[in-house]
Amino acid sequence: MPPQAQVTVRSPAKINLGLSVGPPRPDGYHPLATVYQAVALYDDVTATVRDDLEVTVEVVGDFAVDVPTDDSNLAVRAARLLQAEFDVEEGVDLTIRKTIPVAGGMAGGSTDAAATLVACNRLWGLQLSPAELERIATDLGSDVPFCLVGHTALGRGRGEQVTEVMSRGTFHWVFAIADGGLSTPAVFKELDRQRPLRRVEAPEVRPELLSALLSGQPATLAVALSNDLQSAALSLRPELASTLQFGLDQGALAAMISGSGPTCLFLAADSRRAVDLAVELAESGLCRMVRQAEGPVPGARILPAPISR
Ligand code: ATP
Repeated sequence: MPPQAQVTVRSPAKINLGLSVGPPRPDGYHPLATVYQAVALYDDVTATVRDDLEVTVEVVGDFAVDVPTDDSNLAVRAARLLQAEFDVEEGVDLTIRKTIPVAGGMAGGSTDAAATLVACNRLWGLQLSPAELERIATDLGSDVPFCLVGHTALGRGRGEQVTEVMSRGTFHWVFAIADGGLSTPAVFKELDRQRPLRRVEAPEVRPELLSALLSGQPATLAVALSNDLQSAALSLRPELASTLQFGLDQGALAAMISGSGPTCLFLAADSRRAVDLAVELAESGLCRMVRQAEGPVPGARILPAPISR
């Protein structure tokens, strides 16, 4: 593919259908076994080439005010990493159109980094293979490789070693987005405080989760979901328990904290029930906003260029 002057990449949010957390390693990281699913809630990253070496970012959309626009932005880090590793002699202006909640346990920053890798690969004509992009993604964060591939996948290590998992059909999810975020490191710290270390087993994905995904049946999946971080997130934000219970009372098949929270995740039996649940949650006053999305969907993808006249 030839380089282009402007590229837009659409990249999904992730949820964790199972999240098993082992004891912390000496480097402080917790080994994970997780099943990710990419859901149809997207950030769009538009990259425009510059003829100097600058990398800039602008953030627009629902959650723009919560996102840093300096070098700590993960999209900027992704562009700079590619630039440095491949001696790129061009820069990029990035615009992130944000619809994924920030610090909501849905990998918003990671997916922007994945989108930027795909966009700059095309923009700068680097012709890196998916495997090479995945290798670079690993240096940017544990969730970034999954955001590149999307669909449903098993994540091991810190979550960065991804392998595809077979899943049948489409599942209908509803998200209750809480006010404020939860820091992922703070949630892991609370988990360590709650669990006496000697009793923590190596992380494992539940076999019933994998067979539920193959069955394509939401009711089977509902009883196979799990999240080791849920009790720690609830300990830091106890009010989220009422949101989870409200969703169950309204007919959700399952209710769970998404990743490290504070977003609450509900599985609905079908798309009509997902709409009903979203309306009830929106009217409940229990959360800042509600979103609905199906999964699985693909990872970061280049959008077709607008037709110019
Ligand atoms: P994860 O599920 O991967 O743990 P998260 O969804 O909880 O992540 P993010 O939305 O990625 O959290 O944001 C975490 C922090 O990262 C934010 O508080 C923000 O300051 C910082 N950040 C850096 N770059 C971005 C970005 N492009 N989008 C969102 N947050 C970013």
